Amino acid sequence: MSNPDLNPAITPALNSPALAVACDSCGAQPGDLCTSHSGTRVRRNDVHRVRSLALKHAEAQAAAVRAEPQPADEPPAIEVGQNYRPTTENLHHKATDRIVVRRLWTADDGHDAVAYDIHGTDYAGRDFLAHSACPIDVFRRSYRPDEPERRADAIERAEHLANIRDMVNDPTIIPPGSLIHGSYVFLLDEIARLQAVAEEPQR
Ligand SMILES: [Zn+2]
Repeated sequence: MSNPDLNPAITPALNSPALAVACDSCGAQPGDLCTSHSGTRVRRNDVHRVRSLALKHAEAQAAAVRAEPQPADEPPAIEVGQNYRPTTENLHHKATDRIVVRRLWTADDGHDAVAYDIHGTDYAGRDFLAHSACPIDVFRRSYRPDEPERRADAIERAEHLANIRDMVNDPTIIPPGSLIHGSYVFLLDEIARLQAVAEEPQR
């Protein structure tokens, strides 16, 4: 090696980690050795003390940035009509339950809330639809976004529910105006919604 400035054996300063930063004392740029006497003499044995301090300062700053809690990515917006499924940690619902967001609002105490429908099947395999609501952060922990409802699924489900609708509309089975009839009104809404999905352009 003909140039001693590039040989760490002759120029120990080449091993100084402080070469990573510029030197405020002599103006050496990152990677360059420090110089003395207005740049006429290369410092082979060491770097300027301020340069070592500058490196420590830079390292401390980098560590502080790493330690800082990074702002979480903005969670995806929850919107009316979106479909969700229970998370695997959510033991209150079956994985097959489908959650549809129905309403978003800010409660009197200031927290954002979500009202939603739960479409599921009961112990006998019968469809049910329940309504629930919870704070939005609880919702985010309990449900994960699902694919938009597929048209084929909507058609199949609408046909399935149509049988129940016929029963609900049969006054010999369920007296109109009765409490039980009122409890089935949601089904008619759901069937209408499914039919609207089925008539939408193919997704
Ligand atoms: Zn220097």
